[in-house]
Amino acid sequence: MVMGEFTQETELLVVGGGPGGYAAAFRAADLGLDVTLVDVTGRPGGVCLFRGCIPSKTLLHISELIQDAGRAGEMGVTFGKPQLDLDRLRQWKNEVIEITEKAGRFVKTWNAHGNDLEAGAIILHNQFLVLGVNEDQNGASGCSIDKSFRFIKQLEKDYKLRFLERSKVAFYIDNEVALFPLAELKLKIDAGTITKDTLIFNNLVDNKGDLEDKWIIPANDSWFKKYFLAN
Ligand SMILES: Cc1cc2nc3c(=O)[nH]c(=O)nc-3n(C[C@H](O)[C@H](O)[C@H](O)COP(=O)(O)OP(=O)(O)OC[C@H]3O[C@@H](n4cnc5c(N)ncnc54)[C@H](O)[C@@H]3O)c2cc1C
Repeated sequence: MVMGEFTQETELLVVGGGPGGYAAAFRAADLGLDVTLVDVTGRPGGVCLFRGCIPSKTLLHISELIQDAGRAGEMGVTFGKPQLDLDRLRQWKNEVIEITEKAGRFVKTWNAHGNDLEAGAIILHNQFLVLGVNEDQNGASGCSIDKSFRFIKQLEKDYKLRFLERSKVAFYIDNEVALFPLAELKLKIDAGTITKDTLIFNNLVDNKGDLEDKWIIPANDSWFKKYFLAN
């Protein structure tokens, strides 16, 4: 590959760092090829990360919130007309893009005792940052898990977020994530807001298959069952 004065030997040159390009580049690298990925913007991610999938889902989440707030009137809770701060809205959307970008970059350099980890990162439901490792290739060691914690701690600091929040439990109610503080759970059960059938995010799942099939399950089928026994 020759770019002006710059020359680099590579086995495979991938032009374009969108989902098509980077997926091909990472796969080829995983298969042992020496790969160079170039993108005219200098920021891999393509339309999907910067203008398509991620920003549109982030903004759709806001429109759902507004719609739900409108529907709450039918249940006797009325909110005022939404006030849109477009600058803050854009900033928030950009933060989601940046966190997705940083998490993607982190997992691509994540290693355990010098061995590369085949890993991926995704933000789900605009709420959960999920890091996954293909343990058939290399398992994440204690040190590499520490690295991921440090990375997440840094994100928390940079964006004033709390990814490692343990004092709240996440439920999935009316297709929305509902976070309830531990201290209020019994009250929510008494009030009927949480029933045995209410869907909970069972964050104890520890593999991709369970994340897909057993992550969002009825509360009574999860660790949360003990709360109903106590009641
Ligand atoms: C609003 C919107 C919402 C979407 N939502 C979804 C969704 O929910 N789910 C879904 O699956 N898809 C969605 N898509 C589609 C998705 O974004 C595209 O399918 C995907 O981005 C295509 O990937 P790509 O790698 O082929 O191309 P692109 O994403 O366009 O990436 C091409 C890359 O090549 C680079 N490039 C271009 N020319 C050169 C050059 N000469 N030299 C070097 N680099 C170059 C560009 O900078 C860019 O990074 C959405 C699209 C839009 C617009």
